[in-house]
Amino acid sequence: MTFNDDAQLDTSGVSRGGGGGGRGLALGGGGGILGLIVLVIYMLMGGNPGDLQQPPTQAEQQAQAGAGDLAEKCRTGADANSDPECRVVATRNSVQAFWREEIPKASGGKQQWQDTKMVLYHGQTPSGCGTANNEVGPFYCPLDKTVYLDAAFFRILEQQFGSSGGPLAQEYVVAHEYGHALQDQLGLLERAQQDPKGPESGGVKTELMADCFAGMWAKGAVESKDANGRAFMQPLTEKDVRDALSAAEAVGDDHIQEQARGRVNPESFTHGTSAQRQQWFMRGYESGDINQCNTFRASRL
Ligand SMILES: [Zn+2]
Repeated sequence: MTFNDDAQLDTSGVSRGGGGGGRGLALGGGGGILGLIVLVIYMLMGGNPGDLQQPPTQAEQQAQAGAGDLAEKCRTGADANSDPECRVVATRNSVQAFWREEIPKASGGKQQWQDTKMVLYHGQTPSGCGTANNEVGPFYCPLDKTVYLDAAFFRILEQQFGSSGGPLAQEYVVAHEYGHALQDQLGLLERAQQDPKGPESGGVKTELMADCFAGMWAKGAVESKDANGRAFMQPLTEKDVRDALSAAEAVGDDHIQEQARGRVNPESFTHGTSAQRQQWFMRGYESGDINQCNTFRASRL
C-alpha cells in the first residue's frame, strides 16, 4: 500500500537495538519465519521476567540514541514509499493508529490498545527472548513487549521464499507481528505456548489469527491518521492484495518445508499452510470483524 507523501511519521518507540552485532549477515538464513518466540525459550535461558521491568541499561540507552538516524530519514510518507525501514516505521504508525480505534470499539470500551515498541536492527541484536537475527526472522517478544525486525528480511522473503517485493508484502509482515502484540494484550498467547506444533495446534491457530488481524488492518488502513489528522495511506489496490497474498503464500509451512527438505510434514507445522495463511488474511480483510478472526472457534482452519 502506498503512503500519502505528506503523512507525518513518528519514530518514537522505535530503537536500533542494544549491543548490536555487525551489519551484513548472510541472506542465506531462514529457519522459523515470522516466528512467535515463546516464554519457554526465555525460561530455558534462565531469564527472570522481573528483569524486564528494570530501568533502561546503558546498551538500551545507546540503542535509543542510535535511532536518531531513523528520526532523520523517516519523516514523511514519501520517505516510507522510498525506504524499506521508513516503510516499517510508517506501517507501525498506521497499524497502531488502527488498533487504537478498533480495540475500544470491539470491546465496548473495556479494552485499549497498548503502544508496542519496536527494535529495527541490522544483523543481530539481543532481545528478551534471545538473539534476534534473520535466521529467526521478525518476531514479537512477549517478555519485553517488543517487535524485532531487520528490514533485510524483506529481501530474503522475496529472493529465497518467492514473495513479491510489493509494499503490502512487507507491510503484512509488520502487521502480522503487531497481531501477536494484540494477542498478548488479549491474553491469547498461552495456547500457542502450550501446544506449539501440528496442523491443528494452538501455535498454528495463533499464527493464522495474526494473519487475520493483518488482513483487518489492511482493510482499515486507509482510515488510519497521523498526528495532524491526515490519512497515512492511499486506498488499497488489487495489486496490493496480490502482494499480501504472495507474502502469506511464501511463509506457509508447507511451502517452506517443501523448499528446504523437498517434503511436507504437517506434524511439525507451526504457522499453517500457504493456503490457510492466505485464507485467514482474506477473512480479516473481507470481514473487518475481529470475531471472524477467532481461529480457536473455527470449525475448520
Ligand atoms: Zn507469527
